[in-house]
Amino acid sequence: MKTQQLHKCNVKKNDQVLVIAGKELGKKGKVLKVFPKSNRVIVEGLNFIKKSQRPSQRSQKGGIIEKEAPIHLSNVMVICARCNAPTRIGRSELQDGKRVRVCKKCGELLDK
Ligand SMILES: [Zn+2]
Repeated sequence: MKTQQLHKCNVKKNDQVLVIAGKELGKKGKVLKVFPKSNRVIVEGLNFIKKSQRPSQRSQKGGIIEKEAPIHLSNVMVICARCNAPTRIGRSELQDGKRVRVCKKCGELLDK
């Protein structure tokens, strides 16, 4: 039996991420939403799926709409703004005890 790995959610809303697997491989985008329970994120402009929508009072037409679908966290990497490259995330504690994410390459704070 495989043990479930509890892993902290390193990706947060508004992060820039690079997709490293799947059909959007190599694309970048901004995280719009994080789903910690399912370890998935919505990335702006990526992983569109087509959904059929019934006509409603708001949109008279209905038909097919495109919508971003969640991408699993293991398929994305956070991009460090200073390195301008995907990076592994480290953890650091500030003097006031606040825990922040840092770039493992350059030490840049990823939480502002
Ligand atoms: Zn960096």
